[in-house]
Amino acid sequence: MKPALIVHGGCGTPPAGEEAARNAACERAADAGWDVLRAGGSAVDAAEAAVRALEDEPILNAGTGAYLQADGVARLDASIMASDARAGAVAQVPNLKNPVRLARYLLEQDAHVMLSGQEALQLALRLGHPPAVVATPSKIAYWQENLKAQYVALDYAAMGADWKAENPRRLGTVGCVALDGQGRLAAATSTGGTGQCYPGRVGDTPVIGAGTYCTPRVGVSMTGVGERVMVLLSAKRLADLVADGRTGEQAAATVIADLDRVNGAAGLIALTADGAFVAHRNTPFMASARRI
Ligand code: ASP
Repeated sequence: MKPALIVHGGCGTPPAGEEAARNAACERAADAGWDVLRAGGSAVDAAEAAVRALEDEPILNAGTGAYLQADGVARLDASIMASDARAGAVAQVPNLKNPVRLARYLLEQDAHVMLSGQEALQLALRLGHPPAVVATPSKIAYWQENLKAQYVALDYAAMGADWKAENPRRLGTVGCVALDGQGRLAAATSTGGTGQCYPGRVGDTPVIGAGTYCTPRVGVSMTGVGERVMVLLSAKRLADLVADGRTGEQAAATVIADLDRVNGAAGLIALTADGAFVAHRNTPFMASARRI
């Protein structure tokens, strides 16, 4: 079986001229995952390694580079799933360098699937995972520039109206799907969510079946408007379509068309067990890289 790997660095419309830097970050992360696969590592190891590398890239919206929520705190979501149906996820964890690492720990333990908030952070610290002040200068500047009165007042209704009007501009997220030499797949996704959102807002990324899904036939990682992806369970839908006999490409086109109908700006990567890459989006750009 030939290993393969695909990563993404989020869909959307990046500031002019940033496309190359985002793609370069994806290339570095693809190398990190590819090193694992080439050394005979598992798909889960490779997906975690690639997403950890993506989380360490300040330009991307995950881990170190996460957007700040309305109260000025970054809270991180991440998930990982293996083709044997084991999964782990964390939601709204503050101050953690690599949330996907904690999600991976939960997958290995195979007990709870998702932990959230301060309790998840405390577990990570007990396990010796490095803490981090998640606030890059550029994400702080973005937060300050967009700090309107309704955010300071945490006026949910006014914030919601604003968010709906502007949300396609604030996209990001990172993910990876890996196929190892034994034919096993794994998918992982990590995000800082949507900038300036109401504190505690959870998107699709940590929800297994929404932002991430993996079966023995296909692995999927989503990016885009989490509220839409979550309601349509887009990653699971793609896997179901492949199980019904569609190609990865056909399934992805259907999933993105469904998201289009609900005004869901989104993108996805997928990899099938026979090594076929899929990358699809309805936004102007999605950073990505692949290895085979
Ligand atoms: N899907 C992520 C979320 O809604 C954001 C993104 O992919 O840009 O949290």
